[in-house]
Amino acid sequence: MSKAQLNRTKIASLGSDDSQCHILHIDMDAFYASVEVRANPSLAGKPVIVGGTQGRGVVVAATYEARAFGIHAAMPMSRALRLCPQAVVVAADHAQYAEVSRQLYQILISITPYVETLALDEAFLDISGSIKLLGRPVEIATKLRAQIKSQLALTASVGVASNKFLAKLASTYAKPYGLLLIPEQKKIEFLHPLPVGALWGVGEKTEIKLKESGLNLIGDIAKLPIETLNRIVGEGVAAHIYELCWGIDDREVVTTEVEKSIGNETTFGEDLFEATEVEAQILRLVDQVAARLRNRDLSAKTICLKIRFHDFTTITRSKTISSYTHNTQEINQIARQLYRNLNLQRARIRLIGVRAESLQPTNQANFQPTLDQPDLGWPEAEIAVDQARAKFGVAAIKPARLISEQD
Ligand SMILES: [Mg+2]
Repeated sequence: MSKAQLNRTKIASLGSDDSQCHILHIDMDAFYASVEVRANPSLAGKPVIVGGTQGRGVVVAATYEARAFGIHAAMPMSRALRLCPQAVVVAADHAQYAEVSRQLYQILISITPYVETLALDEAFLDISGSIKLLGRPVEIATKLRAQIKSQLALTASVGVASNKFLAKLASTYAKPYGLLLIPEQKKIEFLHPLPVGALWGVGEKTEIKLKESGLNLIGDIAKLPIETLNRIVGEGVAAHIYELCWGIDDREVVTTEVEKSIGNETTFGEDLFEATEVEAQILRLVDQVAARLRNRDLSAKTICLKIRFHDFTTITRSKTISSYTHNTQEINQIARQLYRNLNLQRARIRLIGVRAESLQPTNQANFQPTLDQPDLGWPEAEIAVDQARAKFGVAAIKPARLISEQD
């Protein structure tokens, strides 16, 4: 049975319960080769090999058409060309792959700040915090693939599961250009018929030891007493393998990069000078910034206010607080105070900007409720606002003061 056939059968038999599946593993299909085909559409549908042609060149990547001839990464180019003499060989353009990888990363962090990149074309996403706003895991995965297709003109496969090991396995079986969900209740059913080589992190030597002991399938290992497995591969490795065989993997998605700041600014058609107008604009900007923070599950420790005057002089003021926040009211208090401290007497203002800096994923930022903060009620209300906006658009809901003073 081919992987594609296996995949279709699995999807049909595994069902669609994605309730505990908050980890996505995304993997671009034949990444380097696909980028080359995109750059030169006449290569579409042909066996294309990316790699060095000189001397001892090796295959770096190959399209699925080339892989059908048995060509794979790390194979000597001379051997690849014997297997498929008509293959088109293209030199690797690493700067281009890095650029596409950056664009991919931007798409991924628009879904969640919890992105762990494994390679230029591969990443884990923890979408626990995105489900309320963006939908169920399979919906998010589907949208993500569509977004990659439309924005990058490249295809990706996505695995959806309850942990990293299963999600990575799922994307492998989803390839090419597929989506595979492994429902938590079906993970054993999925895992146990697979060959032991499918265990992530099990090296070649361990695999050989397992096979020499007659253990060919993951299910064979799972049924062994742990003592027996200890004798075969050693205690440390045995404990790790045993957990994987039962679909257990506690490794968390480790954020590899966080956005440095989130800000919004507006230039006004006519200069502002009334304090009430300026403060209403600050609140409007804070509201946008705070919603973006919450949307990405980020919190900020530093709030900056930027003001540009009629004569283009620009000043910025910032305040760093003792704990992280993504709360509109709290950020507004800070930004407004920064403005009031300037003590401007009807100065003509042409631009106002609000920026949140020193960002952290919210669940890694320590919150300290402060005494003067109406901390009960507001965060929940803000989540409701974000949900309504996701549904009806940003303009649908505004802070009360803006409704009376604007539009
Ligand atoms: Mg890949």
